[in-house]
This record gives sequence, C-alpha cells and structure tokens, in this order.
Amino acid sequence: MAAMRQLWFAAACLWLAAPASADVSQCACDPAIPETMKARNCSLCAVAEKQPPGVEFFVLKDINPRKPNRWLVLPRMHKPGAHELCDYPKPVRDALWRFAIRTAREKFGEEWGIAYNGAQVRTQCHMHLHIGRFVRAAETKRFRFVRRVEDIPAPEDGGLWVHPAPGGYHVHVGEQITETALVR
Ligand SMILES: [Zn+2]
Ligand SMILES: [Zn+2]
Ligand SMILES: [Zn+2]
Repeated sequence: MAAMRQLWFAAACLWLAAPASADVSQCACDPAIPETMKARNCSLCAVAEKQPPGVEFFVLKDINPRKPNRWLVLPRMHKPGAHELCDYPKPVRDALWRFAIRTAREKFGEEWGIAYNGAQVRTQCHMHLHIGRFVRAAETKRFRFVRRVEDIPAPEDGGLWVHPAPGGYHVHVGEQITETALVR
C-alpha cells in the first residue's frame, strides 16, 4: 500500500507540473543521461525508470481530478522523443495492447475504450495509453475493423482509439486528440 501511495504522490506532482499542452516530438530525453529526464514533459519516463527491472508494462491511475475514471497503461521501455507507438518493436506493441485490453476489460467489462493521443497534443513524452469507459456517442464511421490485436496499426502520425466490436475491434485513426472518446 505504501508503494501505491508513493505512486499516487508521484502522479500528483506530475499532473500539477504538466503544462496545458505541449509538442513532445522534440523531447531530447535519454535514460542513459538522467539529467535529461528532469523536464516536466518527461515525468512519466522517471516513473517508468522506477519500475522493477522485470516489469514490462504497468498501470497508473490518472491523477487529474477532472478525470476520475481514467487509467494509464505504460511500457517500461523508452524510445527517443515522442515515444511513438510505431517506434516500438512489433512484439512489444502486441504485448502492450494485450496488457492494456486485459486491464481495460477488468475495469469496464465490454464497455472499455483505449486512446492514444497524437504527439502534438501530448503533455508527456513517455508512451502511454489512456483507458476508460467508451463514450458511445463518440462513434463515427471512420474506423478500421480488425479481428486480432496483432492487426492494430501503429500510425506514423496522429493518435488512435480502440474499442470492442462483435468479433474484433474498431480502430479509429487520423486524429490528434483521441481521449475524448473516453468518459472522464
Ligand atoms: Zn522526454
Ligand atoms: Zn520514456
Ligand atoms: Zn467505432
């Protein structure tokens, strides 16, 4: 429990320190040089570094008081700059999606949604997926249907949001701000 409280505290500092919006694509952090990860945009990199070495993926509560029903799923692995989904090796991406969907399902049953914001609107450089209850009214016809987690694309530009559909998943691409598809 103490560890959990520490996590909350770290996350609280992080949220209070976060700017309203930022472009993290130019982030110059490097885990080999700890000083470079002291920037506000890199707070989640520091949280990832604190995970035990064997931990590949982990869950954080979104500490923003305006988003009480939100969680974040993160990989421990860093990538340069904006930590784009497409920068991660395919097996890591697949495992990340499996972990995120399992986490989302545990919390929201079949009502879950997962959102990945584009780099232009992210306030944190470290890769993170938002988890919450899917907003039905957010549904559009602009989606790709995939049957398997392995077929979820990793766009080179922009974010994506995913929610379950009969026999597979809807993947909505082509937007920067995607987390609005999730209940706050
Ligand atoms: Zn950074
Ligand atoms: Zn990082
Ligand atoms: Zn959809």
